Amino acid sequence: MRKRSVLSSSPATSHSSVGSETPHPTRSRRDRRPKVKLEQKRFKTGMGFLVLIHEVEGLCSGWTENYLKNAGKKAPRTYRHLGTLLSLLYQYSMCAWGCAKGDHTVEHLTARAITSSMAALALMKRGYYDDALALVRRVGELANLLFLFSNDEAALTQWKGLTQEGRWAQLGFERVRQRLQDKGVPIPMKVPEYREMGARGTHGTATTMPASYSAGGPAIVGPGIPQGIPALIILNHVSEYILWIALALLSLSTPPKAKRAQLIKAIGALNTHEPPRVLRRARYVRTAMPAGAA
Ligand SMILES: [Zn+2]
Repeated sequence: MRKRSVLSSSPATSHSSVGSETPHPTRSRRDRRPKVKLEQKRFKTGMGFLVLIHEVEGLCSGWTENYLKNAGKKAPRTYRHLGTLLSLLYQYSMCAWGCAKGDHTVEHLTARAITSSMAALALMKRGYYDDALALVRRVGELANLLFLFSNDEAALTQWKGLTQEGRWAQLGFERVRQRLQDKGVPIPMKVPEYREMGARGTHGTATTMPASYSAGGPAIVGPGIPQGIPALIILNHVSEYILWIALALLSLSTPPKAKRAQLIKAIGALNTHEPPRVLRRARYVRTAMPAGAA
């Protein structure tokens, strides 16, 4: 398996799992050099390693920020309008428009979605694409749940009364998806996305190549190697799920008239987005390498 990392001077085809005890795959049996000595020559350790990671993340973040602002017409516009919608939902979740009293269940769920979205964008900018997708998947689950609540008041009441185990069994992803389907309303996060992001960001599979988003590309260890396609995929998914949550809040919340108008305007602005062609092509990102491709 090929791996890349910017955290060492290793060539692209070499073992690059920093500090790992795994033997170097390309070393011959006659090569008796102590592995530790080899790694000491190539890898920083202690604070040196942590400072290096921070520096590499900063460089990657700068590249991504510039990329997203200049990636055609639609992606920069989506990025900007997502910022507005995130801000409005942030304000709602912290009762900045006035407190509706009550148990704040919807506010708290919205807060979780906003926080996970911002964290996903932060990870994406630093090059942690798989890890960002794990958070995006959480936002998608919250989008499904809130969209169900906005179409089925009884589901919200039921959700509040369930234990943690009960919520998982009765209002987990599959049950929520089924209830949305039975009602004939749109399903914000569908099964293929849920599974793909689970394989990518959460569970992994025996053949999942870490952070590799190009056919035949190497697995990537750690941050710092910016890639345009996963950055756009994550931007697109976050925007889509936040849009559904905002739509759900139009019926789940009672913002002041001016704020409601602002929310509707922001939803309309983000909704004009269409995924760029590159996103449609890479919509369901490749999880496994074809046999023998590595
Ligand atoms: Zn409040």
